[in-house]
Amino acid sequence: MKIAFIGLGIMGKPMAKNLLKAGHELRVYDRNTATLEEMKAAGATVCGSSSETVEGVDLVLTMLPNSPHVKSVMLEDDKLADKMPKTAAFIDMSSINPVASREIAAELEKRGIQMLDAPVSGGQPKAIDGTLSFMVGGKQELFDKFKPVLEAMGSSVVLCGDVGAGNVTKLCNQTIVAVNIAALAEAMQMGQMCGVEPQKIFEAIRGGLAGSTVMNAKAPMMMDQNFQPGFRIDLHIKDLNNVVDAAKAVDAPIPLTQMVLEMMKILHHDGDGSCDHSALLKYYQKLTGEVLHH
Ligand code: NAD
Repeated sequence: MKIAFIGLGIMGKPMAKNLLKAGHELRVYDRNTATLEEMKAAGATVCGSSSETVEGVDLVLTMLPNSPHVKSVMLEDDKLADKMPKTAAFIDMSSINPVASREIAAELEKRGIQMLDAPVSGGQPKAIDGTLSFMVGGKQELFDKFKPVLEAMGSSVVLCGDVGAGNVTKLCNQTIVAVNIAALAEAMQMGQMCGVEPQKIFEAIRGGLAGSTVMNAKAPMMMDQNFQPGFRIDLHIKDLNNVVDAAKAVDAPIPLTQMVLEMMKILHHDGDGSCDHSALLKYYQKLTGEVLHH
């Protein structure tokens, strides 16, 4: 399949490489030119603008930071909605506000173009391995047509509902992860202050009901004081702000999300926005003056 791929950052670059490995023909662009040479060496056609990427393609893919970036590329600045072939489809894999996904889909529909929103979870390691989890929104027929393309980048591809449902599901994922990390940090800090070694707490409870993928990934990072991203606090703030917007629109109560968002904002203002989200531990360490250890 001939595919336009825009946004070759931490996630987009390895995902695009997996599409090349699967035999797809790729036309790529990122406004940051640093990765373009590497993509050329991997076999992609490097374009000088996003408009150039869509020439003659069957599918346009984006992996951009947030809603304003996707709107800018598709509707406002680059206007790909007016430039891409009418026979092509659009799949946005960025994590954005579901309201924005629906707005973009409605604009595309006016031009006879169909869209899926297909955000992912799994982070950079799974983007490299091609084992991401895709949460997809859109029409069943379109999903069936392009599922094999997503399967070249992920090991789980689930249709969650109509367009926007992928990003609603991703917001659920981001709330669960954020609250989970905050609970882990709070408990480990409290346990150490009560006189029990954090490593023992981790070993003793990881196999029980409190155990989780979050615990296995983040507890060792917290005990090592290793806050290399991974997934940055600032990106998680972006997602939780989208949760707040989405919840507000339907009057859904989200007290836990709100609280963890405030904790993350405090860390951001304290210069920790580029740390991994496991740095939620720093919120407790700064309050207590006690550093978690092994
Ligand atoms: P990133 O910042 O590394 O990459 C985004 C890329 O988009 C950058 O290279 C940037 O130059 C490019 N870009 C921005 N505006 C552009 C424009 N107008 N035209 C062309 N290129 C443009 O971000 P990332 O970590 O790859 O994340 C991408 C999306 O995936 C985000 O929505 C993020 O929330 C989501 N996500 C990230 C992770 C992760 O672990 N990093 C995991 C799951 C989902």
